[in-house]
Amino acid sequence: MKDIVIVGAGPIGLYAATLASLHELDGEVLEGQEIIGGQLSNLYPEKDIIDLPGYKKITAQGFIDALKAQQESRPNPLPIRLGVELKEFKKIDGGFEVTTSKGTIETRTILLTTGMGVFSPRKIGLPNEDSFSNIIYALKDKSQYKDKTVAILGGGDSAVDWALMLSEIAKKVYIIHRRNEFRAQSSSVAELDQKGVIKLTPYVVSKLNGEKEVTSVELSNVDTKEVKTIDVDAVFVNYGMVSAPTSFPVEKIGPNIKVGAFYMTSVENVFAIGNIAQYDGKVKNITSGLGEAVTAITKIDQIIHPNKNIPVHY
Ligand code: NAP
Repeated sequence: MKDIVIVGAGPIGLYAATLASLHELDGEVLEGQEIIGGQLSNLYPEKDIIDLPGYKKITAQGFIDALKAQQESRPNPLPIRLGVELKEFKKIDGGFEVTTSKGTIETRTILLTTGMGVFSPRKIGLPNEDSFSNIIYALKDKSQYKDKTVAILGGGDSAVDWALMLSEIAKKVYIIHRRNEFRAQSSSVAELDQKGVIKLTPYVVSKLNGEKEVTSVELSNVDTKEVKTIDVDAVFVNYGMVSAPTSFPVEKIGPNIKVGAFYMTSVENVFAIGNIAQYDGKVKNITSGLGEAVTAITKIDQIIHPNKNIPVHY
């Protein structure tokens, strides 16, 4: 029987795997997708992250690569099994039987780090949206927008971060948001003006014009209903994500998993950390998720080795 099965190989799962190795736990990591990295690798690999300790900025993929290198550098790294989904788990004597899409595993503890679960970007919602090839929901290669005119939709951190990044190479960057106030960090919003990003608020996209590619977008002012049209080479949609709810047999708060002390769920010895975990004071942020991994893995080590003198630093 394994000590731990970690479900999800996003940043929090990868770091938890490194910590599990440091604690000399025997286990494995299951990742439903064919690549590691979760949202960071799938949705915004080139996005700069600016609030991680020790990095002035690092791309999302750069951070995943660093976590992977750290995880692999351990003498006993937990294997990461890609394309393996957790289907269900049930209690057995001394632990759990975990059923995956590729067989079963017996483990004493489970750590869920499934983030947003199966997620997909929220679309604009216009009828012809899917027929255009230059409506982008995940920026993977920013270099192709050199000297282009781009429209970025949304007012959250993703939209503002993309606007700032693309302003470095694009000819013209519009950011189009339905409210005058941005949801993103105020320091990043302040940079929009410095970098020459054109803010169009409070506007929503009412029409997409073009054949195979969008060549212009019609915008409608939310307050005045005034309509204007801007020419674009590409449209980037940052309306957040919609995620499929988890189906794990644990107590939930909305779509997330309720956790208590040590990030334990309503099922003893099943833990949840990162974006999937919910508790009073929760901040959905990579750094706080990494901290949750430290607490959960230390607790799991105590459960597996009740008499061990566990170091709290290395
Ligand atoms: P988000 O915070 O949910 O923002 C989505 C934006 O899209 C909001 O401004 C929202 O408008 C707008 N929106 C949603 N549906 C819309 C619709 N149908 N029509 C028009 N506008 C619509 O998503 P996100 O920016 O991807 O960020 C997700 C989470 O990751 C957040 O917690 C964010 O702070 C975090 N994040 C952090 C960083 C960073 O720290 N650098 C970077 C990226 C993401 P309203 O504002 O009016 O609701």
